[in-house]
Amino acid sequence: MLLHRTTNGGHTAPASANLPPVSTPAVSTYDFIVIGSGPAGRRAAIQAAKLGRSVLVVEKGRRVGGVSVHTGTIPSKTMRETVLNLTGWRERGFYGRAYRVKKDIAANDLMARLHMTLDHEVDVLEHQFARNGVQTIGGTARFLDPHRIEVTSDVGDIRTFEGTRILLAVGTRPYRPDSVPFNGINVFDSDEIVEIPRLPRSLAVIGAGVIGVEYATIFSALDVAVSLVEARPAMLEFVDHELIEDFTHQLRDRGVTLRFGAKVEGIAFENDRPVTLLEGGRRVRSDMVLFTAGRVGATDALNLEACGLTTDARGRLKVDGRTFQTEVPHIYAAGDAIGFPSLASTSLEQGRIAACHAFGVPAPPAPEFFPFGIYSVPEISTVGMTEHDVRERGIPYECGIARFRETSRGHIMGLNAGMMKMIFSLKTQRLLGVHIVGEGATELVHIGQAVLNLKGTLDYFIENTFNYPTLAEAYKIAALDAWNRMSAT
Ligand SMILES: Cc1cc2nc3c(=O)[nH]c(=O)nc-3n(C[C@H](O)[C@H](O)[C@H](O)COP(=O)(O)OP(=O)(O)OC[C@H]3O[C@@H](n4cnc5c(N)ncnc54)[C@H](O)[C@@H]3O)c2cc1C
Repeated sequence: MLLHRTTNGGHTAPASANLPPVSTPAVSTYDFIVIGSGPAGRRAAIQAAKLGRSVLVVEKGRRVGGVSVHTGTIPSKTMRETVLNLTGWRERGFYGRAYRVKKDIAANDLMARLHMTLDHEVDVLEHQFARNGVQTIGGTARFLDPHRIEVTSDVGDIRTFEGTRILLAVGTRPYRPDSVPFNGINVFDSDEIVEIPRLPRSLAVIGAGVIGVEYATIFSALDVAVSLVEARPAMLEFVDHELIEDFTHQLRDRGVTLRFGAKVEGIAFENDRPVTLLEGGRRVRSDMVLFTAGRVGATDALNLEACGLTTDARGRLKVDGRTFQTEVPHIYAAGDAIGFPSLASTSLEQGRIAACHAFGVPAPPAPEFFPFGIYSVPEISTVGMTEHDVRERGIPYECGIARFRETSRGHIMGLNAGMMKMIFSLKTQRLLGVHIVGEGATELVHIGQAVLNLKGTLDYFIENTFNYPTLAEAYKIAALDAWNRMSAT
């Protein structure tokens, strides 16, 4: 049986008991009160504790970890990995599309691994808090005044705490418009999909943002017939368009139906099965609907009037982008509650910088370029400027392209898809952007990120030796391709 450690004394209890993230805070005044235990709150709390400050984390969920651990990043990535393993997806280049590791894959197969991963993540986090002397309390926090927070537990117990500095790391929740009949049976939002009771035969995914595209392609890898519906004319518009062309081709090739430029007017039911009604009269019939069109800041329970803060129409807070201070200087906000880029990776860094600033420790701002990882099947990852960006900025440039099938490692792995595109300045030969679609993209991108942020040039890739055989060789191939094109002009 898996055991997890509670924060109130180190004894263990079954992970399945879903104990609230409660300790009994010894005092009611703290140097730092952190509301929310997702990536931003967790990193901030530990950073402040390492600076010798007393820290209280308030979490309204049943266990610590936030959206990242319980309904977002980790569950979706665990589901992806489980699907790729059980379907034998990575082997299909050799053994054909009908190849399977497990013949009949059921929702339970996905859940089993999910729960193991989540229990482990929560355990690590609780241990981190305990080791660093961070106190936690379960309950919903609201302001009484700019320094005082009231916490109401699930069973209605109320306690009041005072914080010298406060961090709002409350994240987001799915946007659930009234026009969508969510029912927990066959119409779900992105928080619910990780616990679906059965796998659908067909799925309509509404919203082709990162979350929608990830789930659409994960379910398609399970041979579920997927329709991806998006009101805008294209998906993932922030990604380099050449990559998206390649990605789109791969999705169409395996039968994903793309309905772009199609506004959803409503969802009806025929014989209890959902039918997505599109502007212009088209209908998408499916076994299940997953609605992933947007998230809103989870700030409404905070009683922000009591501390003098307001939010935008989507519940997000405004901060100074260097310090993460709100307009009330002792109150900070970080993570998804402040909007773009809304990633676990950037939320962690924002939490750290906020805590350092709150306690007078210099923390240089994060470098301009950070990577985006889209864990679709296949993966997409990108860092730096797209071709569209460099054109808009009027920078003379050249591109280099490598196909994974050109690398020996690609042959060994049976890859027949996957590409890397690099963009270099013509004037300085500096690397401006790296864009990858294919196996390992989210790992590979970090080589490009390092060179980019260290202001490296084409020469780095041409002069250095790379392990052989690796997919990372694609960097050398793409750089040589760019060099050839530059020499030809
Ligand atoms: C499906 C999905 C997939 C994703 N995949 C990725 C990915 O692959 N990579 C990546 O980098 N990012 C990914 N993200 C984004 C990532 O999950 C978020 O950026 C990250 O979780 C934000 O962290 P946070 O600290 O702002 O808040 P959250 O993780 O949202 O946590 C906020 C916490 O605050 C608590 N809370 C809220 N209000 C109160 C209150 N009043 N009192 C007490 N507690 C409160 C909530 O219960 C919650 O636990 C994904 C998101 C989703 C939805």
